[in-house]
Amino acid sequence: MNKIRVTIWNEFRHEKMDEECNKIYPGGLHNVLKKYLEVNEDFEITLAALDDPDQGLPDEVLNNTDVLMWWGHMSHHEVDDALVARILDRVRREGMGFIAMHSSHASKPFDQLVGSTGSLSWGEYVNEIMWTQLPSHPLAKGIPANFHLDSEELYTEPFCIGNPDDVVFAGWYETGNVMRSGVTFQRGLGKIFYFQPGHEYCHSFHNKYVIQILANAIRWAAPTAGFVDPGMPMIGNLAQDLGIFPKPEAK
Ligand code: ZN
Repeated sequence: MNKIRVTIWNEFRHEKMDEECNKIYPGGLHNVLKKYLEVNEDFEITLAALDDPDQGLPDEVLNNTDVLMWWGHMSHHEVDDALVARILDRVRREGMGFIAMHSSHASKPFDQLVGSTGSLSWGEYVNEIMWTQLPSHPLAKGIPANFHLDSEELYTEPFCIGNPDDVVFAGWYETGNVMRSGVTFQRGLGKIFYFQPGHEYCHSFHNKYVIQILANAIRWAAPTAGFVDPGMPMIGNLAQDLGIFPKPEAK
């Protein structure tokens, strides 16, 4: 079986600075996500963090990643612009999938891929009900019509992403606010998914439906084998090569 090579990149600062956060996500939320996701035998998972050499994504890692999952929050500005450019290239030209989680709505790679600011309004932790908008979408496989998150940071509209390709999940909060919580984009050859749950002090990454949606997203976003953006080669006349039209007589 050809495994999907997944790299989970985490800023990994909150968990090191705050014991309360580390209790919820021991060893970092990327480490916890790996434990939940690696039960899927078709995934091969690598962990990466901002403070690792080359910010966790040297060429040998990035070039061997099929789907890059991203969680950042307070250090978006520290992510190297040259690394962001390489990520954009991998997504748009080579079809690497990109999954932006929670506060990564404001990360450099997500905003530059989408071409917007990713701005949204936010507030205190509240109850959220996640509604499945497109039950037949591959991202919704095995997900009920709705599920409850008993504490999640309020992220609400207006979410400045323009119009995504699909709104697969929408969040409703006890405050009355709403959010396009699970949205997809295609950019070049790459597929992109943004998913709102995952605040570092909430327990959403321990929720079985959140994990199932992320697993679905990995399979959905994995590149289609064998096609790379060819650039802009000049081509000949296919109809003539196929003999559909006769070649003009040489004079
Ligand atoms: Zn948060």
